[in-house]
Amino acid sequence: PQDTVNVVVVGSGGAGFSASVSAHDKGASVILIEKEPVIGGNAKLAAGGMNAAWTDQQKAKGIEDSLELMTKDTMKGGRNLNDPALVDVLVSHSKGSVDWMTAMGADLSDVGRMGGASVNRTHRPTGGAGVGAHVIQVLYDNAVKRDIDMRMNTRGIEILKDNSGKVKGLLVKGMYKGYYWIKADAVILATGGFAKNNERVSKLDPKLKGFVSTNQPGATGDGIDVAANAGAAMQDLQYIQAHPTLSVKGGVMVTEAVRGNGAILVNREGKRFVNEITTRDKAAAAILEQTGKTAFLIFDDSVRKSLKKIDKYIGLGVVPSADSLVKLGKLENIDGKALTETVARYNSLVTSGKDTDFERPNLPRALNEGNYYAIEVTPGVHHTMGGVKIDTKAEILDAKKQVIPGLYGAGEVTGGVHGANRLGGNAISDIITFGRLAGEEAASYSKKK
Ligand code: ADP
Repeated sequence: PQDTVNVVVVGSGGAGFSASVSAHDKGASVILIEKEPVIGGNAKLAAGGMNAAWTDQQKAKGIEDSLELMTKDTMKGGRNLNDPALVDVLVSHSKGSVDWMTAMGADLSDVGRMGGASVNRTHRPTGGAGVGAHVIQVLYDNAVKRDIDMRMNTRGIEILKDNSGKVKGLLVKGMYKGYYWIKADAVILATGGFAKNNERVSKLDPKLKGFVSTNQPGATGDGIDVAANAGAAMQDLQYIQAHPTLSVKGGVMVTEAVRGNGAILVNREGKRFVNEITTRDKAAAAILEQTGKTAFLIFDDSVRKSLKKIDKYIGLGVVPSADSLVKLGKLENIDGKALTETVARYNSLVTSGKDTDFERPNLPRALNEGNYYAIEVTPGVHHTMGGVKIDTKAEILDAKKQVIPGLYGAGEVTGGVHGANRLGGNAISDIITFGRLAGEEAASYSKKK
């Protein structure tokens, strides 16, 4: 072997960085590898936030939440197909993970709402910075501070085992160095999902053939193959999530927080058709039933002011605006008269405090301030719920449900946490909690060995 360490981490998203930092802090030597030339994976694109219950940040805002409620929302969102033991880890560690990130320098003080949540529990930086970029920056800075060996352009190829079946290292391929192996007691797979690999996606769910994806180029799922070759069992690979609101003109994902903060969804006929903050699977299916399989996010200046991220979409030049809904309708070929009636009706529902049309649970503000805006959206492949089977210590299991000694998994590469459908804000929570857990477990396994 070229190098010898306690723990090798594969993948530099939120799960990989959390695992690297926590393994280091438990006394392990660590090498982190990433196949792409840049760090951050899909995690750095995350725009929503980090779900957590019973946090100081919620208390400071007078939000009442509980572990039971977060569990209930997560299970319901996942159509009760989640592994309850993994959900329990996600929920019970969520506050601790927010505190851990905060202690390392993150700002998660703003708390908003994402689809499927009964209360505001999506933690994000105040001032509207993208949560994923922020979290990755903080984790990266902490990895640098700890002098962790990070290698870009380096792909994990094969888990190496000794005669007794224990992990003894990882075969990698560096872009410049070529093939070599790293001797290690433990390997943590944090290789993310496969939403960018439409061949794999459409084989598992033919309805998604040809769909665009919100993901970064590295989200191809080769970590799944690496794990499978090492004997890992898979679970729930067929559950693939389309994010309901990908900008048709901009090709970028428009965060759910736009709806959470008050935007409505209308079709080309100018009518609402769904509870805007239902779960992603339901919102995406509803949009695909509309004319042209697209819909429009409609909002005003009060929503715009409430969420800095909106200015980024406007900056891309893909958000037409006008001082009346009729004019806005003309710009986007939406029925302007119907749109005007729809917004007036919606505003009266906001005043009454109850959405008797679509049962939307939060009605944060009326849409009647300044200019109106429209973003045309359509669903894009966003998250792959399934993956390698893990237990509550992030150990990867084989087909007989036996632990593969020394092999750990965390983040989107794993299955079970989100069941059939992941709630917005639960991915960042998942990757920090399970990444950190995998790092700690791998470090203590290495020490015992
Ligand atoms: P998570 O959100 O679970 O942390 P991300 O998608 O953010 O997952 O990050 C996963 C990272 O792993 C991506 O940067 C991806 O390029 C990288 N990756 C995927 N497969 C490999 C591999 N075989 N070797 C090294 N890095 C990989």
